[in-house]
Amino acid sequence: MSGMDEPLRRKKSRITIFDEPVICQFCSQDVFIPYEVYVNVEQPGIGCRHTRYIAICQHCGQAKKFGDPSYYDAEKNNYIWALNQHLLSVRKYRINILLYVGKRNNDKITSFINKLIEVFSIEVEKMSDFRGGVELQLKLSSLNEMQTIRSSIIIAARRLKITIKELTIK
Ligand SMILES: [Zn+2]
Repeated sequence: MSGMDEPLRRKKSRITIFDEPVICQFCSQDVFIPYEVYVNVEQPGIGCRHTRYIAICQHCGQAKKFGDPSYYDAEKNNYIWALNQHLLSVRKYRINILLYVGKRNNDKITSFINKLIEVFSIEVEKMSDFRGGVELQLKLSSLNEMQTIRSSIIIAARRLKITIKELTIK
């Protein structure tokens, strides 16, 4: 998205100010819902209202305040928009994993699922023995891209010394 001349929308999003991402200073995450607030920063009587924003971190709930430093560049006869918003929406994925845990070891599979639950919102649809391993079918909703989900799953498995034979995400 290029520069914008409209207020930020009250949607889960990543926000940049002159291409610098807005980052939560408490948890370092970057997903916020911004709210417009109006403040009267001028002398009394002039009544000039400035738009400012309070963005709520969607990870820890802390508020981040910022203004809109967009400005008019007279030399270039151009308005320089400062704020950019990249909207995020929760997407649903269907995931199929074929994994090997060595000897039948349901504890490991439970820990694996719990590990994924810590990161994503997950529903286990099916868990069955398959070709000497275990096939897991999951429904997952996340703001993350497919690639991020894939690597989170692989890292979780690796930590538990689980071998993933097949992993499909749709
Ligand atoms: Zn935060």
